[in-house]
Amino acid sequence: MPIRALALAVAVALVLGGGAIFLLRDDGAARKIEGGPAKRTFSSNDPIERACALPKEQLLRLWRGHHAVHSEDVTIVPLEPNYSGAFTVTSHSGPWGYVQTIPLVLYGDQIPSAGVVDKPASITDVYATIGDLTGVELEARAGTQLTHRGPGPSPRLIVTVVWDGVGRNVLERWQGRWPNLARLEQEGLSLRDATVGSSPSITPATHSSLGTGDFPYRHGVTAIDYRTKDGTVRGAFAGKNPADLKLTTFADQVDVALQNEPLVGMLAWKSWHLGMLGHGSQIPGGDKDAVALISGHDGHLTGNDAYYSTPQLNLGSVRLDDIADEVDRTDGEADGFWRGHPVLEQHDNPAWVRYQSEMLIEMLERGGYGTDDVVDLFFTNFKISDIVAHQYGMDSDEEGDVVEAQDAALGTLVDWLDAKVGDYVVVVTADHGNTHRAALTGGWPILQGQLQEDVDAHFDVPDGESLIETTSAAGPFLDRKVANELGVTAADIAEFLNGYTIAENNNSPKLPKGYEDRGDENVLAAAFASGQYDEVMQCAFGSKNPPGG
Ligand SMILES: [Zn+2]
Repeated sequence: MPIRALALAVAVALVLGGGAIFLLRDDGAARKIEGGPAKRTFSSNDPIERACALPKEQLLRLWRGHHAVHSEDVTIVPLEPNYSGAFTVTSHSGPWGYVQTIPLVLYGDQIPSAGVVDKPASITDVYATIGDLTGVELEARAGTQLTHRGPGPSPRLIVTVVWDGVGRNVLERWQGRWPNLARLEQEGLSLRDATVGSSPSITPATHSSLGTGDFPYRHGVTAIDYRTKDGTVRGAFAGKNPADLKLTTFADQVDVALQNEPLVGMLAWKSWHLGMLGHGSQIPGGDKDAVALISGHDGHLTGNDAYYSTPQLNLGSVRLDDIADEVDRTDGEADGFWRGHPVLEQHDNPAWVRYQSEMLIEMLERGGYGTDDVVDLFFTNFKISDIVAHQYGMDSDEEGDVVEAQDAALGTLVDWLDAKVGDYVVVVTADHGNTHRAALTGGWPILQGQLQEDVDAHFDVPDGESLIETTSAAGPFLDRKVANELGVTAADIAEFLNGYTIAENNNSPKLPKGYEDRGDENVLAAAFASGQYDEVMQCAFGSKNPPGG
């Protein structure tokens, strides 16, 4: 099967030896993304040995992201810059700096104008910082506070804005396209080296870390799919039920501490983002916070009335169709398409950003947020930037346009806060970075379907059965019944995957152009079983709980 992106592969330069450097070639401009390991073949396939050799910083992130019940049965760590996906579809789940490093920017009258600072920080620090800003004593968690508020009232409204998938590497790629965030960085407080701090670096997990101030090994939301106690694997926050989140969020606690007087609300796209908001009335003393999930282009919003309230917005002039027409015309032709993609059908263009931006202001206005002295909390996630990065690549013009549109929405929000609230704080962050397409870095896209077939073939699994129930970017969930019947363990599969090569994962008759001499390379830096975490950490840190965990 011809792979469209192969035409681009000629531009790849992969420099090996002495600390590999991956060069990007895009319109003749070379950029370095991150030094990767020089070694691309391994002599040992032993899971403990391979995992123990990973950088300690990466092991700590894997450990924090792992939950014994919920996580995949075999953790895989692609050899960077490899990723799970395809030549044209990237993923962003892993412990490497380029997907872990995110903007973390705070702005408002009560935020020190420190500008861009270099000090270690994590998305979990938002929790402790909100504790400081609201004056509510929150439960002790992993994060540390970034502010020291003086005496006087707390801000009237704290708005947390997440740009989904817009890590530092995406901001750097689209330098100059986010002037509003750049201003907030300079005039507020920006933690340049902030990370999400756990792997998988994936939407539901890191939104939950933001809300709870702790990591998935404690809050339990590990990924988009996870196993539950009854053994089934299902989606995060299925049925828009927050019960999977095992820790309360700062919004949960602030709301209860202040007798539910604070208004608390969220506007987002999917239930994946519930972890930054919280449990609504599901916890003792909680009330039904507002949850608005954008479900279509007619202004319709959904929620879950069991634990939350669903605001009804009077959108009036806010109509996606009108916005879409304008966006449609920006590529020079009014044909229902923007840069070749249908504008209305997919949540992946600037029209959807503007639509959400207008809904956001409407929801804040109508909800009366920031209108009295009791602090209110609001959350919004712009998903469009991540969808575009998956579908068209973080280096696509589409991504640049969407980052710019999301930045314009931030400008609109700050203007509204200045005009209507005055004493507010806005927090801007991201839930992970993104990955350059393989053709730009020389990485190998690990085809999960092929990997599954190869695992089954290696272990002589009968036709019609599979050892793997579900694949994920972080590793496979096993069909435990089949594994038991065949006497195959997760560690056996990890060992096989540690020897797995580009040639084996390649599903076309020949190795793609640029990879002809690379068939023997391993695709993974390490694979190890969920049950081997203790041994791996013991090997690397001399303790099953790494320092800093
Ligand atoms: Zn995300």
